[in-house]
Amino acid sequence: MSSSEIADAAGVLRAGGLVAFPTETVYGLGANAEDAAAVGRVFAVKGRPPTHPLIVHIARADRLDDWAADVPEPARVLAERFWPGPLTLVLRRSPRIPDATTGGLETAAIRVPNHPVALALLSAFGGGVAAPSANRFGSVSPTTAAHVRAELGDAVDLVLDGGPCAVGVESTIVDVTGGEPTILRPGGVTREDLEAALDRPLAVPGSSSIRVPGQHPSHYAPRARVVLVAPDDVVVEAERAHDRGERVGVLLPPAVAGAGAEVKAHAVVAVPASTAAYAHRLYGFLREFDREGCDLVVASLPEEHGLGLAIANRLRRAAGPRPPA
Ligand code: AMP
Ligand code: MG
Repeated sequence: MSSSEIADAAGVLRAGGLVAFPTETVYGLGANAEDAAAVGRVFAVKGRPPTHPLIVHIARADRLDDWAADVPEPARVLAERFWPGPLTLVLRRSPRIPDATTGGLETAAIRVPNHPVALALLSAFGGGVAAPSANRFGSVSPTTAAHVRAELGDAVDLVLDGGPCAVGVESTIVDVTGGEPTILRPGGVTREDLEAALDRPLAVPGSSSIRVPGQHPSHYAPRARVVLVAPDDVVVEAERAHDRGERVGVLLPPAVAGAGAEVKAHAVVAVPASTAAYAHRLYGFLREFDREGCDLVVASLPEEHGLGLAIANRLRRAAGPRPPA
């Protein structure tokens, strides 16, 4: 990536335009976080409801107080330990962040991403960049520049190509505005690492929202329907749908793939045994099933520790009830 490309991208942001850029989690669709009109374009391009606030990306942890008020000690500990990195902190907002960016909330979500292109862009721009994932609302997040172009095309002024995203799932969001830090969304920083840094157990509220399937409308979802079954039932479930005439994509769990199972289905992917490798490739697998024209994806949940917690959360949301077409 040349410095003139970065300078051009910063100029687009200053002019109120939209720049898609790589981070270590997924590609973001960025706008000047202080420009309500530019932020409005992000919502319009994504088809995202204005009540879903955006994460503000900044270049340096030591500028946190420019963007947040009354930063509590646990937030400082987490920022120090995990930034730049796949952790987003929800804090009281600074008045410089407009309602358009926070969805009218008095809190703001802030992160320093760990990607050289993102950091170069943020430094060249100098301000905060509000960026959700660079995809239409509810669909699978992009982890390559090609995904962004395929999904958003000309709606974006500029796409910076920084190669595939290393982590592959979104950031962990931790709310530090209350007494006890709580995980709002599991992601690239594990619960275990957060607990070690804070030296105490962390609440994952809506454990219900994370554990109970089908309770939330779908998000992170491919076009194909997603059904989740126990690992031992993946093959039978896939073959039953295949025999009904459906085009089935299968995420074959490591234990089943390792046992050498043959599956009658349209597209079969052996899930990597390492959760880091699985997270890195998960959204690519789901996009591939859509490209293959699959009607249905059959999968099972990984064990919910480490990155497995984030993967399971995304698969549950992908399997959630779909809005009426
Ligand atoms: P994304 O969908 O990856 O853009 O992540 C944005 C998510 O961050 C939102 O959907 C919220 O869950 C969360 N978020 C952003 N801003 C706030 C905020 N001010 N308070 C609470 N959660 C927030
Ligand atoms: Mg998103």
